[in-house]
Amino acid sequence: MKLRTATALLALMLASSAPLAQQGAGDEAARIEALKTSVTNGVEARRKLAQVMNDTVFSFGELAYQEFETSKYLTDMLEKNGFAVERDIAGMPTAWVARWGSGHPIIALGSDIDCLPKANQKPGVAYRDEIVPGAPGHGEGHNSGQAVNIVAALAVKELMEREKLSGTLVIWPGVAEELLGGKAHMVRAGIFKDADVVLFTHVSDNFSTAWGKANGTGMVSVEYTFEGESAHAAGRPWRGRNALRAVELMNIGWDFNREQLRPEQRSHYVITNGGDQPNVIPSLASVWYFFREIDFENIKKNYETGNRIAQAAAMMTNTTVTRKLVGTAAPRHFNRTIAEVLQSNIERVGLPTWTDEEQIFAKAVQKVSDGNQDGLATKMRGLRAPLENPESGGSDDIGNVSWVAPTAPLFYPANIPNLPGHNWANAIAMATPIAHKGVVAGSKVMALSMVDFLTRPELVQAAKTYFTDVQLKSDKPLEFLAESDMPQIQINRDTMARFRPEMRKFYYDASKYETYLDQLGVKFPTLAKGQ
Ligand SMILES: [Zn+2]
Repeated sequence: MKLRTATALLALMLASSAPLAQQGAGDEAARIEALKTSVTNGVEARRKLAQVMNDTVFSFGELAYQEFETSKYLTDMLEKNGFAVERDIAGMPTAWVARWGSGHPIIALGSDIDCLPKANQKPGVAYRDEIVPGAPGHGEGHNSGQAVNIVAALAVKELMEREKLSGTLVIWPGVAEELLGGKAHMVRAGIFKDADVVLFTHVSDNFSTAWGKANGTGMVSVEYTFEGESAHAAGRPWRGRNALRAVELMNIGWDFNREQLRPEQRSHYVITNGGDQPNVIPSLASVWYFFREIDFENIKKNYETGNRIAQAAAMMTNTTVTRKLVGTAAPRHFNRTIAEVLQSNIERVGLPTWTDEEQIFAKAVQKVSDGNQDGLATKMRGLRAPLENPESGGSDDIGNVSWVAPTAPLFYPANIPNLPGHNWANAIAMATPIAHKGVVAGSKVMALSMVDFLTRPELVQAAKTYFTDVQLKSDKPLEFLAESDMPQIQINRDTMARFRPEMRKFYYDASKYETYLDQLGVKFPTLAKGQ
């Protein structure tokens, strides 16, 4: 009886105090909810801007380190919108950082901007059709990410001004991501040292994010150059020392060595200099390697094995070898709190509603590139816990950023599933309504997530705690970049110079044409040639 009285009393106390507490929390929740509605409308109001930015960058189609038009266009736009822009940073003329606002939290938004060799492709047609034959193109969809970030940032900036919210928005580009070339240098230049939260967007065929050790690899990209002596290849071959033979022996050595490597490794090479002509014994020859592995220690091990094999090849051919670090990517570890915030907003926004025409088009592109013909994504997979043993695959130098500031990725649905990757087919949807819808959806998630971090300091603190207490205790990052390693900004210079004059004729003129498809005279969707 007594006990029951006490319980009843306690219940009464709880009941009387609860509404008050809930009232306060409810007010705050309602305020955040109103801000979120407002920022979603802010993105929606910039749908046209998103399309123009996406299509313009698509039409520039610039290779790694040569993103001059793209960077000029984006930074001019940011400046016009009140951002303070620093250009030519971290030893890369095409790198920049744009800042607006003051105080904490400092939220840094990043996305890659470069494209791929020989991926030039007319958008909106379900077959191979180059705009400029042989030219580079956005065969991964890096034309869309800055549109996602900038549209979100402008909507959030408007809200911050109106509501007088404290915080700093930082926008930065992934330069030369296709070479894993830029972010290690941005990290070294200290771009992220004050960042509280890094939100990184990447094109995908669905909505998702990730935390913990990510699937995929880290890597070292290194070019070996062998030096021998030239001689008349028929007249006095015994006077020569053949650098190309050294390259061949190195490749044979590495390929035999593969049998002894863990299945998780990925490694590939291209011969960047194989000599000049057959009757001159090559005095110089170069081969460019990517050594990829799941963790820092195994990357280091394989890199050292590669160096040893290069030395051995030089000894066998009486040549000398030097090496140049071209790029590096750390294995990625993403922040749990940030990923959970992104995921809650992914679920709020949901996948775009695709039209029948878009679905038919996606299936036609899947057919032409030998992928499963199941169309555009209509189901999201939800947030998964990281795998105990991550799966192998590609790399992204956002990994380097993830080890200096709490970072998580937003993958937004702007492309067609089941395509080969790093291929012209991956460019087809990237200046069509499919990309435009995906960019706006991604932008909403970014803007909503920024509102969460701006209004709920406990989330910023939780992200920091995960970073220091979980992530930094889980692994010891190794730095592969030596003090003397500089960004290899000369790469692609000649290729871009060769194609740019012809490509310039096809730059998107948004003042004349509603969309890039209109400018190219493409009726969307075009399923077959001559349709
Ligand atoms: Zn990418």
